[in-house]
Amino acid sequence: YTEELESEVSKRTDELRLANDRLERLAITDGMTGLLNRRAFYEEELPRRISRLERSGQTAAMFYVDMDNFKRVNDVHGHQAGDDAILFLRDLLINFSRPGDLIARLGGDEFAMWLDGIDEATSARRAGQLIEESKSMVSMSGDDDHPLGISVGVAFFDPKSGEQLDQLLARADAAMYSVKKRSKGGFEMAPPPGATLEMPE
Ligand code: GH3
Ligand code: MG
Repeated sequence: YTEELESEVSKRTDELRLANDRLERLAITDGMTGLLNRRAFYEEELPRRISRLERSGQTAAMFYVDMDNFKRVNDVHGHQAGDDAILFLRDLLINFSRPGDLIARLGGDEFAMWLDGIDEATSARRAGQLIEESKSMVSMSGDDDHPLGISVGVAFFDPKSGEQLDQLLARADAAMYSVKKRSKGGFEMAPPPGATLEMPE
């Protein structure tokens, strides 16, 4: 009788462990793409990466990615075509990434990518590569006047700067918006942290 009970308890424990693993995975995942969600990226993964870089002294880059003219895809071809475009970009980012990089869907047509252990010149070169690769999205456009593509803001991170995570994100975000304003379908490197603080008296 005791053996039976023990085996039942052990079976239940295994089941609970599996259910728990599944819940933990769901809590950090964006349901549609399977990428990291915004919360897990910002609150769990990035703080961990940044404190690791603070110890190793290595640098990294944050790519902030927003699709251009995405709404037009939905409006002209329907919501399913929009979803397909999101999944296409997801696959593109996964194929573009290197081991150790992180990719998150921040929501809607916004993604972020963290390139671990990269130097500044390589960050710019990689951003250019990503823009080149994103040209393959144009065939999914809503119409010719509104080509589907991406705008990317890049913030280079050096742990020596002492920059906080929210500042880093704000720099990447501002660089992305600057591309949108100028002309979509490109990338911009954010000015280094503190550059915007040099305001006249
Ligand atoms: P911009 O070039 O300035 O970035 O504009 P945009 O057309 O890309 O549009 P914007 O980024 O302002 O809006 C994104 C739209 O994406 C709004 C929303 O209706 C749609 N959207 C958000 N999530 C999803 C989704 O999961 N699937 C689909 N099909 N559409 C989505
Ligand atoms: Mg957009």
